[in-house]
Amino acid sequence: MRQAVTVLGSTGSIGINTLDVIARHPDRYFVFALGAGKNVTTMAQQIVLFQPRYAVLAAEADALQLQAQLPSGTPTTVLFGDAAMAMIARHDDVSIVMAAIVGAAGLLPTLAAAQAGKRVLLANKESLVMAGPLFMQAVADGGAQLLPIDSEHNAIFQAMPVGFQGDYDAAGIKQILLTASGGPFRGWSSAQLHHVTPAQAVAHPNWSMGQKISVDSATLMNKGLELIEACFLFHCQPEQIQVVVHPQSVIHSMVQYCDGSVIAQLGQPDMRTPIAYGLAWPERIEAGVEALDLFQIARLDFCQADEETFPCLTLAREAFAAGGTMPAVLNAANEVAVEAFLAEQIHFDRIPTLIQYTMQQHTVEPMIGLQQVLNVDSWARECAKRALIEGTL
Ligand code: NAD
Ligand code: MG
Repeated sequence: MRQAVTVLGSTGSIGINTLDVIARHPDRYFVFALGAGKNVTTMAQQIVLFQPRYAVLAAEADALQLQAQLPSGTPTTVLFGDAAMAMIARHDDVSIVMAAIVGAAGLLPTLAAAQAGKRVLLANKESLVMAGPLFMQAVADGGAQLLPIDSEHNAIFQAMPVGFQGDYDAAGIKQILLTASGGPFRGWSSAQLHHVTPAQAVAHPNWSMGQKISVDSATLMNKGLELIEACFLFHCQPEQIQVVVHPQSVIHSMVQYCDGSVIAQLGQPDMRTPIAYGLAWPERIEAGVEALDLFQIARLDFCQADEETFPCLTLAREAFAAGGTMPAVLNAANEVAVEAFLAEQIHFDRIPTLIQYTMQQHTVEPMIGLQQVLNVDSWARECAKRALIEGTL
């Protein structure tokens, strides 16, 4: 029987790649619903191609514009807002939800999919960073199947024993080796980083991605968020994870075992591989990805991450160690800082400064519930924005 898929964040880089894989397998999957922010034109094209039952945008004005663009007779109901986004994530007729909205905006619908027991393909790492314990509890309570789409976590999942539940000793796992490309500014000095432009920061050497995650890769915050993401997904502490800079992005991460084995997953830097893996697991399906040519690659390099020049990774470690609400503060302050950098309001090297400042203003609370996380998220955004306006930094 064909499986119904909801794609949250359908107009973004991951969303478009997901629809590409789905379109290759009309016998296995069909699009039940599409959700996105405000890219009306792309959404209209996707609706014409995939004829989903629902399409949801963030705001009413965009939904009205989308409705007006659709050919008459289109079977799609156009909706807008948080409740509708959560509805398409938890709908009874849906089996698989691709969670690929960027940032904190992805939390509520991704959580809804987890609570409803869907197969959740998790690209939206920010929801796990903000609310890791709540999210993992929702997965357990809802009986959801959580499959990581982030390429590193997908690689780790593939390199772990089948059915791994977190007992590292029993599985003979020594540590996780989380690879990082190092981003476009690997090897640069702090002084050079000061003058970096948004155009330089979003030009990732290996991966083609949305703007926010591209900047995160350039600051190494992406690796920081991924470290936290890995701790929740694989039930471990940051000490059990070593970050390995690997500029070619051919190895997507590894697991090191007590007998000396290191199991790695290799592939092209093409997100359709982890997306296809998540859709079909435990089976494998064709993803449209070119085979890896090892002779052409010829060599693989590895080095340590430079956390002194790129302090965001250290900030993420500190946020995780502080626990409770601190990772939500890290995430919110980072979103504000990245936005301000992209709008050319702050220099690149102010991103970690603003995040650190916001974290210092926060008194950690043990995590008790969703409303608290949302409140802390708003507080941190306000705090960071005020610092920008008042020039406190
Ligand atoms: P993107 O910017 O290309 O796309 C983001 C999507 O989210 C768009 O469809 C946008 O319309 C939607 N969106 C934004 N704000 C929204 C809102 N308020 N309500 C509803 N939808 C909203 O980003 P991307 O690169 O596709 O990344 C998406 C997520 O996947 C991020 O969390 C990112 O960290 C993660 N991820 C991406 C990659 C990659 O290769 N692109 C790899 C690993 C993880
Ligand atoms: Mg990644």
